[in-house]
Amino acid sequence: MTTALPVPTLNVGPAGLTLEGVALADIAERFGTPTYVYSRAALTAAYEAYQQALGQRKALVCYAVKANSSLGILSVFARLGAGFDIVSGGELARVLAAGGDAGKVIFSGVGKTRDEMRYALEAGIGCFNVESAAELDRLAEVAASMGKRAPIAFRVNPDVNPNTHPYISTGLRSNKFGVAFTEALDLYRKAATLPHIEISGIDCHIGSQLLDPAPMAEATDKILGLVDQLASEGIKLDHIDLGGGLGIRYRDEEPPTPTEYLKPLLERFAGRDEALCFEPGRSLVGNAGLLLTRIEYLKPGVEKNFAIIDAAMNDLARPALYDAYHEIVAVAPRSLPATRYEVVGPICESGDFLGHDRDLAVDTGDLLAILSAGAYGMTMSSNYNTRPRAAEVLVDGDTVHVIRERETLEHLLRGERPLP
Ligand SMILES: *Cc1c(COP(=O)(O)O)cnc(C)c1O
Repeated sequence: MTTALPVPTLNVGPAGLTLEGVALADIAERFGTPTYVYSRAALTAAYEAYQQALGQRKALVCYAVKANSSLGILSVFARLGAGFDIVSGGELARVLAAGGDAGKVIFSGVGKTRDEMRYALEAGIGCFNVESAAELDRLAEVAASMGKRAPIAFRVNPDVNPNTHPYISTGLRSNKFGVAFTEALDLYRKAATLPHIEISGIDCHIGSQLLDPAPMAEATDKILGLVDQLASEGIKLDHIDLGGGLGIRYRDEEPPTPTEYLKPLLERFAGRDEALCFEPGRSLVGNAGLLLTRIEYLKPGVEKNFAIIDAAMNDLARPALYDAYHEIVAVAPRSLPATRYEVVGPICESGDFLGHDRDLAVDTGDLLAILSAGAYGMTMSSNYNTRPRAAEVLVDGDTVHVIRERETLEHLLRGERPLP
């Protein structure tokens, strides 16, 4: 097993763990727990790794907003010049509020409403990734009613197996996403006849937490075959979007770097002049964030010892939802022998665990950092058990920016009322 911590800007200092120039203990002291803590340097490095891999190629990295949609995170990527991949009107509002460029927004998702289409057309987004024939009809009708042309790509399902968790594999024929490979040609022919539709590109996204570049290369071959067939019929595309999905290290995985992941894809693009787009989410934010939490109680048991912490499945759902593994480390380990703990939250569900069988040298009141929690952490959080959502802070060198205040009970009860 690798010993380096998966969060690249996390270091072990004399006073315990520090992220960039700030001690996690200071963050807990100032802002309380549980708190999501992100590193601006790690976010920037992850984005630059894609830019570097793409070199001088005409390309756009569109950050998949659903991985972490906090305005503070979006504003970091907006300032780096990123585009954004959104799946709702709400996410578009967030991108615009964070200073993102509407022209670099692509809109994915199988269930776009008329209102969302109008909003996106009004804002002037870059492209709609259309996922069905019915959606094409609806978009054409909405664009016509506004006197606009909607730029589109079809999300084509290349039917390759990405070898990932079934819940996060999206490119198989049996998935709800995208249009079937065999239907794509006819849909493009139809779209080419619609006056309020402007064919702009093609899109695919085969799954998430991909650790092997081969399925993506296979998908690219299929997509490029289709692109060439379209060109032979006079339907020319200006961009090819290969989706997101590059995996990260949570435990001992060895994901390819963006350079390694993109190499077989870029080889296939040699001599082509379409712009290349990607929609990475997890690989841009996952290892740039951690969840800082405090141990409320230690509870020795006959079979298991429990460390009951102040974070729970409502804060970080991935362990309960996918049985996902997150590294859990003591912020300032004590010089006593480690004990094996079930690390659990206070929620009334047996599934409310953050980690099984973790060896920790800790006492009641100590801080723990749950690592690799930057992606699908805060965005999947809930108020289950009427628990206010965690605060979020962004570390930038020696500075800590509060990017989301901790929720209060007032926030939770707003809009509700008992019967009169
Ligand atoms: C979720 C999603 C992404 C991002 O996936 P990651 O695995 O986080 O990189 C990109 N595109 C689409 C269409 C998605 O649904």
